[in-house]
Amino acid sequence: MPTSIHSGLSHLCDHWDREHLWHPYTSTIDPLPTYCVESANGVRLRLRDGRELIDGMSSWWCVIHGYNNPVINEAAKAQIDRMSHVMFGGLTHSPAIELGKLLLETAPKGMSHIFYADSGSVAVEVAMKMAVQAAISKSGSHRKTNFVTIRSGYHGDTWNAMSVCDPVTGMHTAFGTSLPIRYFVDSPSVKFGQDWDPAAMCQLESVMAEHSEEIAALILEPVVQGAGGMKFYHPRFLAEARKLCNRHDIYLIFDEIATGFWRTGKRWAAEWAGVEPDIMCIGKGLTAGYMTMSAVMTTKDVADTISAGEAGVMMHGPTFMANPLGCAIALASLRLLNSQDMSGRVAHIESQLKKLLTPAAGLPGVKEVRILGSIGVIEMEKPVDMAAFQRRCVEEGIWVRPFGRLVYVMPPYIISDSDLDFLCRKMIKIVKEDATSA
Ligand code: PMP
Repeated sequence: MPTSIHSGLSHLCDHWDREHLWHPYTSTIDPLPTYCVESANGVRLRLRDGRELIDGMSSWWCVIHGYNNPVINEAAKAQIDRMSHVMFGGLTHSPAIELGKLLLETAPKGMSHIFYADSGSVAVEVAMKMAVQAAISKSGSHRKTNFVTIRSGYHGDTWNAMSVCDPVTGMHTAFGTSLPIRYFVDSPSVKFGQDWDPAAMCQLESVMAEHSEEIAALILEPVVQGAGGMKFYHPRFLAEARKLCNRHDIYLIFDEIATGFWRTGKRWAAEWAGVEPDIMCIGKGLTAGYMTMSAVMTTKDVADTISAGEAGVMMHGPTFMANPLGCAIALASLRLLNSQDMSGRVAHIESQLKKLLTPAAGLPGVKEVRILGSIGVIEMEKPVDMAAFQRRCVEEGIWVRPFGRLVYVMPPYIISDSDLDFLCRKMIKIVKEDATSA
């Protein structure tokens, strides 16, 4: 076993796992500790040693209905007994069709075509490929293939997705000149809830005016920038961006992978602005954390422009496209969402988070507390020691995974008031300890 500052914690994780399994963004020389989960139910993760943790992460935003949901379990089992998978080339099936119908019923009005993909990152790849194919077809120019985006964004870990992640906090340094070079403008200067200032559009306006012949699309996460900094910005930015895209013949891509399915309090974050994109990526909550699956939705205009182009087809076709099991699960999850007052549910979580977390704003070491929908963020003045913080979380019975200076929660929507209270109180307790130990 390698000597490591974390080796004293090895009783918490499996030795073989440490030696052979790569975890996300993890060193093989000095891996961070991992905790072995035996089962999960509702908002609780049960560790192998019997301890239970209240989950504040929804397993990176996706477990929206909680773990082990009986309705979704049933849908998955029923679909397994019919067929788990069948290729989508030349074949189709009712889970894909029913899911597609329901998605288009609830998607922005202009959306008319759906491309099912494997994961969030792949959805971003597909969306970017769509924009390039459509832009070339429409303009007749092979130069109109680049992208503009806003700093502090995060869009996934595949090649093109990485290229539009924040160039400083993202993966640009690790991959150097191998990444395509994109246009970046500052993250929107006006925060959610502040008074709008038209100056917020200046940079985007000038980049688009100067480079519209090269830019196929603007890609961004609407209203909430997630893994790039948990920033909430003024929805008016989206409305103004839409106008600029129209003026300069640039497609607008919304990455709703983290924000979709009510996380910000609206079904789609773009609804805060009343704005529609040309292309939209969804994932994470789509399958409620049961399967990896995503989708890209677009307008008839974009779809037909691609089809009228040189290739005559959309150039993508993954093996697991429209996986029936994933579609059946997503369908059950969407029906569950549609059967509830989700706006009221998330508004309630928001009011609880405001009550419980806002007092942390006055603590030493805390820079800012911000809450939107079911997302609660405590931004610290200094980076948090992730391993130490997580060890304390587990000791206190909660699951929260901070990154950088950000300690945040976005629990499953089914969380009870008492569990949310427990989660937030423990989180604040550990934040206080972190500030005094720094
Ligand atoms: N876009 C956004 C906004 C995301 O938050 C993420 C994942 N955190 C992705 C894309 C990539 O999704 P995946 O991890 O499923 O590839």
